[in-house]
Amino acid sequence: MEPRTYAIRTFGCQMNEHDSLRIAGLLEADGLTEAASPDEADVVVLNTCCIRENADNKLYGTLGHLKAEKQRRPSLEIVVAGCLAQKDRDVVRERAPHVDVVLGTHNVHRAAELLHDARTHGPITEILEAAAADDHDRFPSALAARHDHGYAAWVTIQIGCDNSCAFCIVPAVRGPEMSKPFDALVDEVRALADQGVTEVTLLGQNVNSYGRDVALAARKRGEAVRVRPRFADLLRAVGAVDGIERVRFTSPHPKDLGTDVVEAMGATAAVCEHLHLPLQSGSDRVLKAMHRGYTADRYLERLAVARAGVADLAVTTDIIVGFPGETDDDFERTLEVVAEAGYDSAYTFIYSPRPGTEAAEMVGAFVPPEVVAERFARLTDVVERSARMRHEARVGLLEEVVVEGRSRRDPADLTGRTRQNKLVHFAAAPMRPGTYATVQVTGAGPHHLRGELVEQVAAARHRTRIAVTAAG
Ligand code: SAM
Ligand code: SF4
Repeated sequence: MEPRTYAIRTFGCQMNEHDSLRIAGLLEADGLTEAASPDEADVVVLNTCCIRENADNKLYGTLGHLKAEKQRRPSLEIVVAGCLAQKDRDVVRERAPHVDVVLGTHNVHRAAELLHDARTHGPITEILEAAAADDHDRFPSALAARHDHGYAAWVTIQIGCDNSCAFCIVPAVRGPEMSKPFDALVDEVRALADQGVTEVTLLGQNVNSYGRDVALAARKRGEAVRVRPRFADLLRAVGAVDGIERVRFTSPHPKDLGTDVVEAMGATAAVCEHLHLPLQSGSDRVLKAMHRGYTADRYLERLAVARAGVADLAVTTDIIVGFPGETDDDFERTLEVVAEAGYDSAYTFIYSPRPGTEAAEMVGAFVPPEVVAERFARLTDVVERSARMRHEARVGLLEEVVVEGRSRRDPADLTGRTRQNKLVHFAAAPMRPGTYATVQVTGAGPHHLRGELVEQVAAARHRTRIAVTAAG
């Protein structure tokens, strides 16, 4: 009998993509194979995000389409996972009774089991309110993730968030910060390196507070607190793993970016010269209303320390336009900080109220959509100008790239990624993704570079498929 097939559709952030890869690993461990086309899949998983605008419309639109498909093919199984499922569990069931499994953010590890249960007992909703702190099996990153590319992997070092940014739903849906034990993480990276992975991205909502929960929990238990595991030490330890050439991380919170992290970045050859430092707004008034815990000056000071400590640093950010109560003057401050920070790129978001967050209640202060649209367009211009300048400054330089595959713009070209996390398109005969090469930069746009191949440096080492292993 042909094995059943699956397809996963991810709506949302990097953390979600990471969860999707874990779900893929679990389903494969359960004997399923990835469907050649999503339209033919026997199991469709929709991994949702409630952080971005319109996530629910997209989900219910897709579910409507799948309802018709399920009438045609009753054996089709539908799973809804992720933070929208966590938050709107009953709504999903009510609006889409044809869904077989609804699972939340704390029980991703149960995806395959729940599908089995649903086959015998009918539709299931299982949402846990919190991750169990003492149960490693439930820690999502206890399962090593398979990355799309095979040569690179994401490693979740921390889940949840202890901050309370007024616009953000993450603390409500992901719960408090929980750090994965230091040694388990280093072991996980070693296991990945053994499989030929050369690049890891450490993931968390506030990576530089990594380990704080461990110390707090020990204190609560009345134990003398031993040295707290720190993010800076983790960067050094992961960077020292044999075979790991590139270490990335996202996101550090500006209020917690200590000099120790900058020193570790500068001193660890494998840590890439890229810092994603979310600004959100350049207005002190708005930053305060958001509860971000820093002022624009403080942010710029920390950025200056990072630039001084890490040579040739690329900096990217997240910015929200139209937070409730944002005035023209507040927005001008944001443009000023963006110009001063000299970003290489920025993710720009239009504020969207997430029910259950503090800012969603500030209805009287919502900024009219036409004002937001105009600000957003101006911000995009300023960001693109900054990005283009940073990119043009690289023309003529030699860059190490990791080949990602054929360019989507022109299949005759290859696309690679620099240590600064920039895409470079260059003409070359096919090379396996994961190959290291040197490219000379010959041109620049706001979102990519162009280059010429100088030489291939190292062949990709990974096996085509990385086995999913329990590590932790
Ligand atoms: N933990 C990171 C930090 O503190 O900056 C951010 C993580 S958040 C999942 C990713 C980005 O989504 C945020 O930096 C913010 O810019 C954006 N975002 C979150 N909630 C939003 C909302 N309600 N409206 C618009 N953008 C939002
Ligand atoms: Fe959300 Fe703020 Fe936590 Fe980031 S730090 S995840 S924006 S609450």
